[in-house]
Amino acid sequence: MSKKHNFSAGPCILPQEVFEKSAQAILDFNGIGLSILEISHRSKDFVPVMEEARAIVKRLLKLGDDYEVVYLGGGASLQFLMVPFNLMKAENGKAAYLDTGTWAANAIKEAKHLGQVDVVASSKDENYSYIPKNYTVGEGYDYFHCTSNNTIYGTQMKTFPDVPTSLVCDMSSDIFSRVLDFSKFDLIYAGAQKNMGPAGVTMVCVKKDILGKTGRNIPSYLDYSLHIKKESMFNTPPVFPVYATLLTLQHLENNGGIAAAEIRNEAKAKLLYGEIDRNPMFETFCKEEDRSLMNVSFKLTDESKKEEFDNAWKAAGINGLNGHRSLGGYRASLYNALPIESVQVLVEVMNSIK
Ligand SMILES: *Cc1c(COP(=O)(O)O)cnc(C)c1O
Repeated sequence: MSKKHNFSAGPCILPQEVFEKSAQAILDFNGIGLSILEISHRSKDFVPVMEEARAIVKRLLKLGDDYEVVYLGGGASLQFLMVPFNLMKAENGKAAYLDTGTWAANAIKEAKHLGQVDVVASSKDENYSYIPKNYTVGEGYDYFHCTSNNTIYGTQMKTFPDVPTSLVCDMSSDIFSRVLDFSKFDLIYAGAQKNMGPAGVTMVCVKKDILGKTGRNIPSYLDYSLHIKKESMFNTPPVFPVYATLLTLQHLENNGGIAAAEIRNEAKAKLLYGEIDRNPMFETFCKEEDRSLMNVSFKLTDESKKEEFDNAWKAAGINGLNGHRSLGGYRASLYNALPIESVQVLVEVMNSIK
């Protein structure tokens, strides 16, 4: 079976080298006569993996010692709750949120368990087809939360507001895909399975000085400070997903880092959006200026061509092109590991629909 062109939105394609090294580590990790699946997370073989997996994030994001990185279970969805637990004041806690899609709305829902949530702007009225821009975040908020890339709708924030409070961002689906001034953010989190590794682990990168200020009793697992103190080994971490994430990030670092990935990602997106704009059979869901480089959500202009198109892309060895069940249509996810050749194959298929 030859490798498919995998446009899956998540869990997603990873570099082939990562699959090969991961497979080898399952059979025999570092030649120690044991599988990575059967060794202690506190063993001398795994501890350096966790250390390096934490350190490489800061190198890639160009962040200093004022930040800490931890790897947690529970997915990005648990971060929807952990963020307010750690940042929202126990008394009169208040946070500002930007509502740009389903994941942002889920984050809002969880934060409401702990305090007042003000949605400063929302694009829900137009089915999340754009990123709201003319809003301000006033004084008095414990933090502001936004979602850098809306995986379902295919929109992406191109700039981030200056806010008079901590800036928190769910970067699950575009972390490590483009150059940003990451020091602008006080807390970044990302479920690994979109652009940094396999499912089962979530990366949290937090500026230390924003923690410990809420006056709130935080349950142990939900407390970032405890995970930091325990060097991301408060309990058994997701050993294998952390290892595969490290391999993915090493691959990125060895291939020019985020700056080079951004150039590749822009080329892929340009190719696909170019075809959608040129080809009257297709259109995107969202406003042009807010188009995501990572998730290209699009649809047929003539639904009667659906069967023909579906058969054609499947025959071309393409996987994972169906849109999210809430939006329908198609979604091509162009994560870091997707080669431009796969986009070329998709464009050829689109071009063949007449
Ligand atoms: C997929 C996704 C999530 C949810 O991630 P889980 O790890 O499944 O909880 C949250 N936010 C964004 C932006 C996503 O794309």
